[in-house]
Amino acid sequence: MLHRRTFSFLFFITTTLVLMTFTSSHSLAHSIAISSRSMADMERFSNAGRGSNITGISEFKRYLWRFGYLDHNVNTTCNCFSEEFDAMLESALVRYQRKLGLQVTGKLDSITISEMITPRCGVPDSNDHTHTHTHMHSAKNFVYFPGKPRWSGPMPTTLTYAFSPEYTIHTLTLRQIRRAFRRAFTRWSNVIPLTFVESDDYSFAEIKIGFYSGDHGDGEAFDGVLGVLAHSFSPESGRLHLDAAETWAVDFGESWSEVAVDLESVATHEIGHVLGLSHSSVREAVMYPSLRPREKRYRLHIDDVMGVQSLYGSNPHFRSSDISSLQSAISANHAPPRFPPFSILLSCAYLLSFFIIFSR
Ligand SMILES: [Zn+2]
Ligand SMILES: [Zn+2]
Repeated sequence: MLHRRTFSFLFFITTTLVLMTFTSSHSLAHSIAISSRSMADMERFSNAGRGSNITGISEFKRYLWRFGYLDHNVNTTCNCFSEEFDAMLESALVRYQRKLGLQVTGKLDSITISEMITPRCGVPDSNDHTHTHTHMHSAKNFVYFPGKPRWSGPMPTTLTYAFSPEYTIHTLTLRQIRRAFRRAFTRWSNVIPLTFVESDDYSFAEIKIGFYSGDHGDGEAFDGVLGVLAHSFSPESGRLHLDAAETWAVDFGESWSEVAVDLESVATHEIGHVLGLSHSSVREAVMYPSLRPREKRYRLHIDDVMGVQSLYGSNPHFRSSDISSLQSAISANHAPPRFPPFSILLSCAYLLSFFIIFSR
């Protein structure tokens, strides 16, 4: 009986510690520009309108400037923004909400703030408010980079890619990283006449992939856990950079962290940039700019396919009937359960041990 009680007590303590470790990761979440406030704290912004002065408004301005919604000549020399909810903020919010497919209110409502604190790609969103952006496709949601750059040369063609031997992570094996990227590249090559081949020669590969921390020399410093997840450059740069600070995952069954980010989803998105696509307004599209922790979104949406095919033409093996299967696959682009099954089992075991100890 003593052994049973001792075992139960030790089990209780162990599960308590494991659960504490698991739940503590939740507080790590933060964003690049909108600091780690609680949503309750954000409530004070919800009724803010033109003319309001609230401390913290400048963070939203900086965020909207960072991602291409406030003009670049606004106070960039000191990188400071006023705390006034002015007309420029209102129109930037309208453009942001329209671009992200949110309800257009011109206010810092809870849905807009929630989107702003969701981790996202560091590539600024192309806006459709300036007439100089002639690359904008008016009828579709997919967008090109200015000038519609693409990998030149006759199709079909082959591009090589390689992983930086120096700028890598050790929380996943190279084999896991390579497999995630191979699947991501194949999704794109299935629909366009481009083939991707991995190369061992990093310096000569056309697409160079690396995991970088903080300021890494290209003027687009990474920001630590969540916030900005990755960025890449338009054709024919070939640079694809991932934030080494993220908890990159290839299997949420093995990665319990609440801040785990699906490598394959981000890889597929960034390859879209490398090919010449900018951000889409279609929430289900791979080229939508944000991705929640533990969310998977790697299957190409029709919007992604139409965008990339308008740059490169169709893969001769791609059939238009594949579009309907793509459509049905969209429903599979959903977020997995917020808590992995193991944590549920652990919670049950915790309650059981609690019952065994205290029912005596
Ligand atoms: Zn992006
Ligand atoms: Zn970079």
